[in-house]
Amino acid sequence: MQLMNDGFSAPRLTATQRRVFDELLAVGAARPTAPPGLADELRQTIADGVADLAPAWPDGPLYLTKGSIASVLACEGRYLAEQEGPPAGATPPPVAAGIVTHRAIQLAHTHPGRPVEEYVRAAALGAAGENAEFAALWDDGIAAQSDVLAGAVSRVTAFLDSWPPLDAAWSPRFEESLAARAGLIRLHARPDLILGRPRPDGRRTMLLVDLKSGRLREEHHQEAQLYALVCTLRHGLPPWRSAVFSLADGEWTDPRVSPDSLAAAARRVVAAARAAVQLKTESRPAALSPGEWCRRCPRSPACPAAAPGGGPRPAPSAEGPPRPPVPARQPFPEAAPDARDDPYALPDPATPQAARGAG
Ligand code: SF4
Repeated sequence: MQLMNDGFSAPRLTATQRRVFDELLAVGAARPTAPPGLADELRQTIADGVADLAPAWPDGPLYLTKGSIASVLACEGRYLAEQEGPPAGATPPPVAAGIVTHRAIQLAHTHPGRPVEEYVRAAALGAAGENAEFAALWDDGIAAQSDVLAGAVSRVTAFLDSWPPLDAAWSPRFEESLAARAGLIRLHARPDLILGRPRPDGRRTMLLVDLKSGRLREEHHQEAQLYALVCTLRHGLPPWRSAVFSLADGEWTDPRVSPDSLAAAARRVVAAARAAVQLKTESRPAALSPGEWCRRCPRSPACPAAAPGGGPRPAPSAEGPPRPPVPARQPFPEAAPDARDDPYALPDPATPQAARGAG
């Protein structure tokens, strides 16, 4: 579907799709440029922060992902438990539903116009044919299959009802791997959706999105900023935005990416790497830090420090899920939209209503 290349052919959108189109994709808004050398500075910050660990970790890069960084900074005991690999056996139904959801959303883009259930069943059968743990769940019978299918149908429907159709001109990619080296660290990230491509003129037009089935939590903002950091190191240019999107309520984390937010993400990488090397080389014991994350910890049944019931949880708020703090400034300079070659920069922001059509 052609959304806006002629500036007047935007499709009719649901209210939620319109909000994502206007506020998250911000079609028509100016895109900032990045100061030259920012990626090199970030890479050097990480490399310098872990340089003294090289003698203790001589045999190649230390691999860090979103999950391992979050684990080691939340509870070192959980990090070590997860390093032993996933528990043997069938994929849990909620995890399986997530696997199916991501692939079904991709199918809905590559093969539009079909019923959601068709995407979901095709995705489930594909996963069952490729993944032994998923197949073990799938072969458990129709009750397990029903849980997976029903959960995935809800999530895929939520995505399709919340997001405008993804224009091919935006170069949408699904679960694309991003990897970058910084000193002895090798970072790896795989956002659920990437829109836009790095540009030679230094304008930042890439948008990274990770999808969650539940409510947003504070750490989701940090996850999105980690994705932005890996993208910056990989492409030498920061993305325009990076966010975690909740399929439950259609909210998203603060998507802005700034030098400050990227520097904070780099400092988290350094802190995680230092702890990981110390724990893996057994130079000190793991500190146990119970919390909400105990619910998903493989060590929780036997851990003496496990928080009862999974630890304290944030009090519900009448204002909805907690939102991450808004950065104090957005210091990247803005650049004027370029109508010739950047679909994100269309239509002219001076005439948004006319250009976006009746909606
Ligand atoms: S159960 Fe909780 S405190 Fe114990 S290792 Fe796991 S996350 Fe840490």
